[in-house]
Amino acid sequence: MKNIIIIFTGGTISMKTDKNTNAAVPSLCSEDILNLTPGIDNIANIHCIDFGSIPSPHMTPEKMLELSKIIKDKSKNYDGIVVTHGTDSLEETAYFVDLTYNSSKPVIFLGSMRNSSELEWDGPLNLINAVNTAICEDSRNRGVLVVMNGQIHCASQVTKTNTSSLDTFKSLNFGPIGLVDNNKPYFYLNYAKRQYIPTIKIETRVDLIKCACGMNDSILKFCVDSGTKGIVIEGMGRGNITPDMVSGVQYAINKNIPVVLVSRCISGKVSDTYGYEGAGRDLTKRGVILGDNLNGQKARIKLIVALGLTKDLSEIKKIFEEAYY
Ligand code: ASP
Repeated sequence: MKNIIIIFTGGTISMKTDKNTNAAVPSLCSEDILNLTPGIDNIANIHCIDFGSIPSPHMTPEKMLELSKIIKDKSKNYDGIVVTHGTDSLEETAYFVDLTYNSSKPVIFLGSMRNSSELEWDGPLNLINAVNTAICEDSRNRGVLVVMNGQIHCASQVTKTNTSSLDTFKSLNFGPIGLVDNNKPYFYLNYAKRQYIPTIKIETRVDLIKCACGMNDSILKFCVDSGTKGIVIEGMGRGNITPDMVSGVQYAINKNIPVVLVSRCISGKVSDTYGYEGAGRDLTKRGVILGDNLNGQKARIKLIVALGLTKDLSEIKKIFEEAYY
């Protein structure tokens, strides 16, 4: 049998409903969850790390870096790594690890949408599916994968789309790359655009701003004046912002702060298609970097990691616009 390490970080999968408040709170440790997952020991030799009981809105880039270092280290001695995580920010941590991990060993993230007090608790099945994916030879060299609700997604593509449905994780550009059927993973797609950023440092002071009609430059200028080191803007459509925000973008660029543009649309890549004030062409001419098809929260994670490697704007531009390994 293969040796798999499961790193428990917290989230709903480790929660119960408190009888007094009727609200879900962290309660289960690794041993409790494993005891409630019958048959898991027949799939692989399971070893555990209790990284924490973190509700995922409490996750931070610093903790992601620590987790990524542990995963890198454990990949030397285990055949695969499984990580349980709260679903709210699962895509951010999974993508962080994806960008900073270059071993061929599978790394599989999962969570659950129902807690262990609820009838539909999806934790044990998602955990079994994740371990079955971690032991599969075909899962190697695919970067970090997310296994939820019987589907297999790439960390770079997957996002949480629904606040409460079990079928919440979607890869909106190209769909899931596979599924787990009768305890066996099947891969139908290869997602080739994997990127590794070789850094052990990060820059956490990166802000994310969403563009909406009539917005001006005040938030952008506030971020710059309060010491931001990088800004991600979720623009409209193909990558366009309001004319009144442009002076804020220019203000940041004049101070050598990288500004990355992605779209607030739920899928598709940004481009310099339009030439009016505040549109993609105007912004890229000013030095704005295009963030491909990443959503805002993932582009921010990428900028946090990229700024750990280099502060050079042309290098950061390459990392976002050219470099795929
Ligand atoms: N709020 C929870 C968390 O992200 C949701 C979940 O785990 O599904 O920790």
